[in-house]
Amino acid sequence: MAAKDQKKNSLKDRDQELFADWQTLHRVFIRPEDESSKQTLIKYMEQILFGLHDFLNKHVGVTEEISLAELSKNYTEVKINAEPRKKLAEVIEDIITDIAPRAVNVASPYFIGHMTSAIPFFMVHLKAISAALNQNVIKLETSKVLSVLEKQVLAKMHCMVYGKSQAFYAKHVQNTRTALGSFTTGGTTANITALWVARNKLFPPKEGFSGIEENGFFEAMRAHDLDRVVILVSKRGHFSLRKAGGILGIGNRNVIAVDVDENRSIDLAKLQHLIQTLKKDGRTKIAALIGIAGATETGIIDPLPQLADICEQQNIHFHVDAAWGGPVLLSERYRGLLKGIERADSVTIDCHKQFYMPMTAGMVYFKDPKALDAIAYHARYVNRKGSVDLGIKTLEGSRESSSLILDAALKIMGARGYGLMIEHGIETAKAFADKIRQRPLFELVSHPVLNILTYRVVPEQIRHQLAAAGPEEQITLNAALDEININIQRIQREAGKSFVSRTRLKLHPLDENNVVVLRTVIMNPMTTPDILDEILDEQELILSTLNW
Ligand SMILES: *Cc1c(COP(=O)(O)O)cnc(C)c1O
Repeated sequence: MAAKDQKKNSLKDRDQELFADWQTLHRVFIRPEDESSKQTLIKYMEQILFGLHDFLNKHVGVTEEISLAELSKNYTEVKINAEPRKKLAEVIEDIITDIAPRAVNVASPYFIGHMTSAIPFFMVHLKAISAALNQNVIKLETSKVLSVLEKQVLAKMHCMVYGKSQAFYAKHVQNTRTALGSFTTGGTTANITALWVARNKLFPPKEGFSGIEENGFFEAMRAHDLDRVVILVSKRGHFSLRKAGGILGIGNRNVIAVDVDENRSIDLAKLQHLIQTLKKDGRTKIAALIGIAGATETGIIDPLPQLADICEQQNIHFHVDAAWGGPVLLSERYRGLLKGIERADSVTIDCHKQFYMPMTAGMVYFKDPKALDAIAYHARYVNRKGSVDLGIKTLEGSRESSSLILDAALKIMGARGYGLMIEHGIETAKAFADKIRQRPLFELVSHPVLNILTYRVVPEQIRHQLAAAGPEEQITLNAALDEININIQRIQREAGKSFVSRTRLKLHPLDENNVVVLRTVIMNPMTTPDILDEILDEQELILSTLNW
């Protein structure tokens, strides 16, 4: 803010007698400043709590395109205001008039480019209550019933994934010495947790070595007489796995990306060959093999039963990254797609994706209820040895009671309710794929196994040229198509009504080069086939205005 403005503002503050003293602080800590402030609050909260989707459509992401460079000019203040500047109601009004319009309307049914979408309105209520209770599930002393509730929710989810016996769950659901999984802040930390466990399992204590967690990587390598530790995943692996490689000291170069086959899932022959090569000299260990259940870019599912076989034969930790696809298990119609997941040593599932929870929450599950012992930590003031504190076996420290929200949502919607949303997404994506196939200006690139598909725009003239072109010429033509698709995606996004994302993929799984593709994720239950037609119409229209 310019110096002049700052001065004006502080004068205004004084006029309004907004200042911090003990008395006003005390008041502002427990209630709105005055009746009018309260009325403003009620007005907005009523809209948010009882008319969420109308509210979002009316207020969020409605400003005409404004560049980030332009926006950022309004956000250059670096000094904290010493005295209060605004009342609560004014701050909320500002958020609704200045921030919301320039945020992204991820709840729009036309916003089909990302894994962040509309959420059921009651999630906002649950989130508010979770914040109000402000429990910290790191330890019993700050959460009590929320800790046992969390164990119950973890068991329900574990049962969804692994379907063990009643006796198994009776033994573990409230067992203070075992853990079926843990809540995390998202898929990234869930993947890191799983691979952290896998790494530690690989280097257990032995004579003169007390384990990798205590002694570190150098000593682990020396004690076990090794040079290298690797993690295997297909090229479609999420980049959080490379972060895990970095954080865990494995090195992200050693998170090896295996080629995909003609189904765009991990190439089993190449994988087998790679494992043989890695094992040959006995100086490399494989910390984990990862199967993807819903690849971020394509929605593809790896052949989990075959990966489970390989892991069993080779004694490798089998992790399934089901951050996206996990909730498909709640659809009776499609749960078969995830067959084999019950053989995974660990499984990642995001809450803020297809469990439709607000940002941010994820989960990680382990087949072995003792697996998380590999990362147990104790502290003198919390999480004492032998306590039931959930924070003993988590990557995160202090943590919100996300289980409260998931538990309530499951009660409100039931497995069947979630199943219906999953089925809507998959079936709408299939209908979308048909539309794309039927339109001469489009080319489907990756088919929707789940609710994600990719395609590109191909003008008729270039389509004919491509059909007749040799390899060299194809590269040139594809480069021209890349340019066209980048522009269409950008112009559509800037126009502000619809949004698809874009990425680079091989047109045919076994091609040499990547091409630019448009990527869509159909998860909003309000996205209809008609809306998808409108989105394609708009892209055709944009194409007709492009000079290429
Ligand atoms: C989204 C995603 C992740 C990362 O999850 P975050 O919640 O964004 O941290 C990991 N793996 C897959 C397959 C994902 O789709």
